[in-house]
Amino acid sequence: MNNIKNVEYIPKHTNCTNCGKCCGPVLMGEREYKTIKDYCIKNNIKPFFRLDNTCYFRDEENKKCLIYKVRPVICKLFGVAKGMKCVNGNTCEIDGYKYIPKSSKIFSMFRLAKELEDKQGE
Ligand code: SF4
Ligand code: SF4
Repeated sequence: MNNIKNVEYIPKHTNCTNCGKCCGPVLMGEREYKTIKDYCIKNNIKPFFRLDNTCYFRDEENKKCLIYKVRPVICKLFGVAKGMKCVNGNTCEIDGYKYIPKSSKIFSMFRLAKELEDKQGE
């Protein structure tokens, strides 16, 4: 069963300072990929291509996630799920696995960023 509909029950991480240290090369399922892609196209969001491991959708200058509203579940689990330790300490220790969307295909942020770039160049 896909538990993506339960995402609203993921507790908020009240210790988060938006430092971005957990914003690495995250992965996502097919449905998340499509949702984020549509959101980026609709809002004309341009990813940052970088050579380090920071997520392409992290705006370091303004300290924000460009796709915060539709960010992958994995991002929402930082600091509240077991094994996903935040540098500022977790505020919960829920079982994160039950929230991860079941998908036979796994997508990377690089693939999404590249697809968006190609689309903008058309
Ligand atoms: S969850 Fe933790 S590591 Fe991630 S941005 Fe917030 S404070 Fe930083
Ligand atoms: S999608 Fe947003 S919250 Fe998730 S890793 Fe990228 S910048 Fe961070």
